[in-house]
Amino acid sequence: MGGNTLIEFRMLGFDIKLDTSWLFIAALITWSLATRWFPSVLPGYSPIAHWVLGALGACGFFISILLHEMGHSVVARGYGIPIKGITLFIFGGIAELGHNPKTPKQEFMVAAAGPFVSFLLGLLFFGLGGMIQSAHISIPLAAVFHYLFVINIILAIFNLVPAFPLDGGRIFRAVLWKGFNDYGKATRWAAKTGMFFAYGLMAWGAWDIFLGHYISGMWSFFIAIFLHNAAKSIAAHYPKK
Ligand SMILES: [Zn+2]
Repeated sequence: MGGNTLIEFRMLGFDIKLDTSWLFIAALITWSLATRWFPSVLPGYSPIAHWVLGALGACGFFISILLHEMGHSVVARGYGIPIKGITLFIFGGIAELGHNPKTPKQEFMVAAAGPFVSFLLGLLFFGLGGMIQSAHISIPLAAVFHYLFVINIILAIFNLVPAFPLDGGRIFRAVLWKGFNDYGKATRWAAKTGMFFAYGLMAWGAWDIFLGHYISGMWSFFIAIFLHNAAKSIAAHYPKK
């Protein structure tokens, strides 16, 4: 994360920042959709059509991540937690809370809101895609919605993995916090689990690279490093007394 803001705008009272590193993921998604996904689901269409659909898919992906972060932010604001801003960057999005949730229940609800929004979006895109296809309105547009259905369900499931700092890890911390009645201890446990998951993801990425899937392997590897560092730095804030 370079910390260079490309675009900044306000939506629903939230400060939204688009980091320049997002351009890389937008290009990667457009490229992989245009050269792999759409040619395989719409083989009869021209490369130009595949690229246009790829760009549309990347826009939909961007909106999906934004709405996921909005989900966290709206629930947090409902609990009186100020939102410093929402940043979209190379590994997705981050809704920056002004302070930590005050109770396990608040933490649980704020964390669950993002994957919940992704699930709802997945269902919505599934329905829209099906409607457009069965009404013969546009097969390519239906294919874009189908991609957005798949990606939102993947986002929801991936984020629910109980590995801090993913949403599932925050949900896990909320449950531990409730059980231990000790925020620091809950954070250390959740962060340890997160680091353990990150090592697994690194191994998976390495295996993928070994199999010749360089891009997805490198991607898993980089996400694992990012998650590992985030979990480690948060754990360092709550040293064992
Ligand atoms: Zn989230």
